[in-house]
Amino acid sequence: MAIKYVPEPFRIKVVEPLKMMTRAEREQAIARASYNMFRLKGEECYIDLLTDSGTNAMSQEQWAGIMRGDEAYAGASSYFKFVEAAQDIFGYGYIQPVHQGRAAEKVLFPTFLSEGKFAISNMFFDTTRAHVILAGARPIDCCCEEGKNPALRAKFKGNMDVERLEEIIKEKGAENIGMVVMTITNNSAGGQPVSLQNMRDVAAICKKYGIHLNIDAARYAENAYFVKRDEQECQDWPIKRIVREMFALADTFTMSAKKDTIVNMGGCIGVKDPESPLILKIKANCISFEGFYTYGGLNGRDLEALAIGLYEGIDEDYLRYRIGQMEYLASRLDDAGIIYQAPVGGHGPFIDAAKIYPHIPYNEFPGQVLAIELYKEAGIRTCDIGSYMLGNDPDTGEQLHAENEFTRFAIPRRVYTQSHIDIMADALIAVRDRAKEIKRGYKITWEPPILRHFQASLAPIE
Ligand SMILES: *Cc1c(COP(=O)(O)O)cnc(C)c1O
Repeated sequence: MAIKYVPEPFRIKVVEPLKMMTRAEREQAIARASYNMFRLKGEECYIDLLTDSGTNAMSQEQWAGIMRGDEAYAGASSYFKFVEAAQDIFGYGYIQPVHQGRAAEKVLFPTFLSEGKFAISNMFFDTTRAHVILAGARPIDCCCEEGKNPALRAKFKGNMDVERLEEIIKEKGAENIGMVVMTITNNSAGGQPVSLQNMRDVAAICKKYGIHLNIDAARYAENAYFVKRDEQECQDWPIKRIVREMFALADTFTMSAKKDTIVNMGGCIGVKDPESPLILKIKANCISFEGFYTYGGLNGRDLEALAIGLYEGIDEDYLRYRIGQMEYLASRLDDAGIIYQAPVGGHGPFIDAAKIYPHIPYNEFPGQVLAIELYKEAGIRTCDIGSYMLGNDPDTGEQLHAENEFTRFAIPRRVYTQSHIDIMADALIAVRDRAKEIKRGYKITWEPPILRHFQASLAPIE
């Protein structure tokens, strides 16, 4: 039985109309987009779950803040307001705004990574993986075993495999490990949380071998909510204390503010030690790539909205509703026997498409097949998080075989209602029920050399 929906702790003030299309129109649209979800127009999507990044609804306070934004080139009051909020929440000495998460990676990673080095993560997000490679180094994923088995219900499936981490460090040599990256929540493993205990264990290993520890912090607030829900020690802690405790264990963080900070654009880098020589390098790279260090590629008004969003994102009533929405959708999938990375993560269910299409091999992209069928069925735009997204081996050029073939329902924050959530479940069930009608997957007819899934052209295999 589906669980009770946690009602929204807000009401709607501004309305964005949606275009209603027929199935035939959607079939034409997806063919025109070369079967690439990123090449559909936004207005062609009735429910857009392509990403929860930058697609969130800002509050009236944030919109009011937009009007107060200070557009001074250097030293704007909005910059100081943002830095003060971030320092208060994360407890870090230095905060560098940048225009989004990948900009943080571009600015920070080359200071640690170069040819011959490795970076190890509980699991790299796609742009994070790309920035490791662009810096000349090689990424290594080291997720715990539980995280690799979608049907297995366990707590903290986003954790690092700590034993394996130490083995890899010994194998490659500690001096060759440029950094360890803890992604919280673990996006590519299904928005699965990382426990405070795991963070402590990883930090201890990094300390033992003298390796820099960076947090990829896009969904730090949702992670903190899971820690509070599922880690005994933290049950009575305020969210902010959990965040502080987690971040105190790392040296730096890179953050896309387009997720848990509930803005449409923004990001930052944090450095714990206010005296760190790293800060000068970050400022220098930021000035070259992003703009002067007091705006980092953002408008003053964006910094103002960010400062407010940081606090709204850790509000416990909001987080209860947010995670409650995921749990409600997941319970509908449970009722229908649909396998997803369970229990559901922070930003939506990651459906095990290989279970729905067991006859379609990884190199015909079952996750992409499911995304296309959902779009045709109900105008729902999702995306593949599987072999199609993973791409080719940078050294051999061969198609990589992903651990899981997921289709991701990334749910924007404060945007969709319970009826939208029900449509998501109904569409998925309908597509699953006629899965056998789909005999073959897709082939790639054109692809760029890196981050191909954003741009590639596909065609159905006849
Ligand atoms: C979104 C995301 C990024 C990249 O951030 P952008 O703002 O999209 O550039 C990096 N890491 C993780 C875990 C993310 O979810």
